[in-house]
Amino acid sequence: MTVKPVRVTIWNEYRHERQDPAVRAHYPAGIHAVLAAALEAAGCTVRVATLDEPEHGLDAATLAATDVLVWWGHLAHEAVADAVVDRVQQRVLDGMGLVVLHSAHESKIFRRLMGTTCKVMWRERGERERVWVVQPAHPVAAGLPEYFDLPQSEMYGEPTDIPAPDELVFISWFQGGEVFRSGGAYTRGRGRIFYFSPGHETFPIYHHPLVQRVIVNAVRWAAPNDFSGAPVAGIRQGGAHRPDPLEPLD
Ligand code: ZN
Repeated sequence: MTVKPVRVTIWNEYRHERQDPAVRAHYPAGIHAVLAAALEAAGCTVRVATLDEPEHGLDAATLAATDVLVWWGHLAHEAVADAVVDRVQQRVLDGMGLVVLHSAHESKIFRRLMGTTCKVMWRERGERERVWVVQPAHPVAAGLPEYFDLPQSEMYGEPTDIPAPDELVFISWFQGGEVFRSGGAYTRGRGRIFYFSPGHETFPIYHHPLVQRVIVNAVRWAAPNDFSGAPVAGIRQGGAHRPDPLEPLD
């Protein structure tokens, strides 16, 4: 049996790496380059889109050829055009997967899909983060130990306005004592969404092999089923009349 490679588009804001030498030291070719290498090594077909391209690199043809969109942003969430957010949201509702990383919790697309501010408590001190796997049977936890440590991370803590996920897969503990629901799975329409919080730009978190494993797993999990693509527009346009059933009702 041949398995079609998952077609991934990595969307990176790509501002920090060009402006800040401390970020460039870890990601000289951009955060997207490290993520792309990990996903390509796992057999995915990868393209990259960035904020400063026309339509932020997310024109309709690109999205139509994307099974899973990975999103990293921080400085410039508000610079993302609403028309592009509309287009991405539509594709998610139609079945495209979305993997939302770190500070993209405040991206327009994630807030749109979640329906809340998605704000978190945070502290940038480079403290240790321990990522606990709390749902080892979930596909995004495949191949992971019961926990792994990131030597330096940005603290994200509770309470958070990110809604409770359908399935909580990771909880992080931080050196300062906080905990955070650091990895959770959602569905919206036919689309699967995974949020994973580790990934601050001044620490080499995306070079960590187990972080890469989580992201690869999340992409595979979020990829649409082969049968998706059937129209669901009727549901979104106020419901669809269901014709009489094949079997008589009386
Ligand atoms: Zn950060």
